[in-house]
Amino acid sequence: MAVMDAILKDLTESQIDAVTHLDGPLLMLAGPGSGKTRVVTHRIAYMISQGIAPSQIAALTFTNKAADEMRLRVEKLVPGQSVWMGTFHRFCAQLLRRYAPMVGLAENYSIYDTSDSKQAMKRAIEVADVSTSHTSPEQIASTISRAKNRLVTPEMMLASSKRSGPTMASKVYPQYQQQLLTANAVDFDDLLLHIALLLRDNPELRAQLDARFRYILVDEYQDTNLAQYAIVRALSIDHPNLSVTGDPDQSIYGWRGADLNNILDFEKDYPSVKTVRLEQNYRSTPNILRVADQLIQHNRRRKQKELYTHNDEGDPVVLRIYHNGYEEADAIADEISNAMAVEGFRPRDFAILYRMNALSRSLEHAMRRRGLPYQIINGLEFYQRKEIKDLLAYLHLINNPRHDVALQRILNTPTRGIGAKTIQRLRGYADRHNVPMLDAARQVDQIEGLAKRSATCVTRFVELFDRLSLKATASIEDLLRYVVEETKYEAFLLKSHVDEQDSSAVANVDELITAGVEFDRYHPDDGSLELFLEQTALVADTDAFEDENDRITVMTLHAAKGLEFPRVFVIGVEDGLLPHSRSRDTDAGMEEERRLLFVGITRAKERLQLSCCKSRTFRGDSRPAVPSPFFNEMPLDEIRRVESEVQQNWFDDDPYGNSYPDSWDLPEEDSEANQDSEPNQDSGSAVHEKPDSLFDETCQLTEQDREQEIAKRKKKT
Ligand code: ATP
Ligand code: MG
Repeated sequence: MAVMDAILKDLTESQIDAVTHLDGPLLMLAGPGSGKTRVVTHRIAYMISQGIAPSQIAALTFTNKAADEMRLRVEKLVPGQSVWMGTFHRFCAQLLRRYAPMVGLAENYSIYDTSDSKQAMKRAIEVADVSTSHTSPEQIASTISRAKNRLVTPEMMLASSKRSGPTMASKVYPQYQQQLLTANAVDFDDLLLHIALLLRDNPELRAQLDARFRYILVDEYQDTNLAQYAIVRALSIDHPNLSVTGDPDQSIYGWRGADLNNILDFEKDYPSVKTVRLEQNYRSTPNILRVADQLIQHNRRRKQKELYTHNDEGDPVVLRIYHNGYEEADAIADEISNAMAVEGFRPRDFAILYRMNALSRSLEHAMRRRGLPYQIINGLEFYQRKEIKDLLAYLHLINNPRHDVALQRILNTPTRGIGAKTIQRLRGYADRHNVPMLDAARQVDQIEGLAKRSATCVTRFVELFDRLSLKATASIEDLLRYVVEETKYEAFLLKSHVDEQDSSAVANVDELITAGVEFDRYHPDDGSLELFLEQTALVADTDAFEDENDRITVMTLHAAKGLEFPRVFVIGVEDGLLPHSRSRDTDAGMEEERRLLFVGITRAKERLQLSCCKSRTFRGDSRPAVPSPFFNEMPLDEIRRVESEVQQNWFDDDPYGNSYPDSWDLPEEDSEANQDSEPNQDSGSAVHEKPDSLFDETCQLTEQDREQEIAKRKKKT
């Protein structure tokens, strides 16, 4: 009974009620910090203790990080279990591996990342022969991505656009899918789409998987999209033991097709549902909760929820107004240093959250100067590095010789005399004959208009590739080393960048090999090139997050979902940033931004500071900034407002005095570039949006920038 005690200890009545509910649908709707995730974890442990086979349980999370954490917690309660826990995308990727032929793919299919998909999209636009003068490839990509999340196929899109004439997206969509199919590849959205359609169209398979995954648990259900909904619904018909957990007030992935109706309609979908509400918050102080609660009351489309806490009152929430982003970064870094020195806080106790990745740069600078350990949660970054992408492209092509994007990337990397024109000819030949480009390369003699020399270079490449392919089943470490050696990749790196970058590029290559070594170690029996590539493709931006690391966490509000920290700083709470300028015009947009801030606020356990600046600098110009309108929706009389002293050494002039201009509108030409920098929070968001170029340069903060800025301001006075 000791196990049972451990599982039910430290749970409230209603939590126990949810944990011990075994069969039938369960809906747990509750506010932040009320123990929803804790219940999911304990429930898995309880199920196992009651004799349910771990292999029949699947727990779906929103990020890999959340899955890892859950695994650790369950492991503590019932050691040695083997429940499937992971993201929707990973879940689907693994199923698809098994059933790939049913959707016209081979088992060694590749997962295109966002930049791969972009290449495929460009090529599809070319083949579809549509003009993009009135729209951008990104817009078409985003329309198609949304369609996929709503289970709209190319045929459906074409049919629905017929009346008003085919849209650009409806013409490109079939071509794009064809590109992926020829390349034996899927994009992130396809992982969900293929599985959802497979389950819909194959009743036998559906029933088989329904029986296989008899118990399904979904955390953060408020952020599921229609495709995800369709998948869990299809797997819970004969065995409706589906439990979902979520908080509609924390739905922040609308831009990726998250549909709140999924949670709101759950009771309709499963009339026999047991609904559990949790009302006690264990995370935050009453001070923090009141600010969060009053803010979220301003959303009209929501169900009222009560949330109370028995925690100590704690300190008031602080609103800091800084002069500019540099001061904001410096002051926060100072405060953290102080709190560590004087109050005994650890670096891991702090999180700094923001709406846009670009805001991290000034922080990085400030923390580096003080020697504060920090981690920017962006696991993607490593896999986006040129050298890493190059080497992985070799692996991709070895694993799946139809991977055209990989082929185009490495044909002339390292340089081997194959020019852009030759690549274009190969592509044209491949498109005309509907074959992968590697086949075109093998038939290079039949391609007209190619110089003999170019043809020879292409043939040499094919020979190299065939040689590399012989190692396909070696360990990942051996394969990587072999690729680096045979392609003389390091020599190429050293030759191509002679700046300081090169040493880090070579170090990154070593780092990748280390990742290979680790993979081999973790997968002595089931390791395969395919699995290794799948893991790198599904890496989440929250994956670099290691609790064991005693570091300050710096991340976007989106990535902070589900996490908690003793002290939280939310920076850049300014109009145009939070709410994002793009979302300000619609009620729905504003409500989602409000939820995003709500998520940020409710990450804090003990202390919370929200800050804004009087000016933000971008493209070398500092512009007046306006505090977020959301401040007016908070109990200002309870908040401690601190305005920073004028910093003589920075800005002798303060052109805006202490008053703010009425509005800060982003210049027209910037609004397009001003795309979201929402993270690819998990395994596989459809879009890793390009970084917000508007703020890009601003926060590229070097000493030199700052000095220039000071000089410029001085000159003005
Ligand atoms: P979010 O909506 O932000 O994801 P959540 O509802 O999932 O929040 P948890 O993360 O599960 O909340 O729990 C919040 C904190 O409260 C955790 O530190 C958890 O360990 C603690 N907690 C939850 N329930 C209890 C309890 N009954 N007794 C003590 N601590 C609890
Ligand atoms: Mg949670």
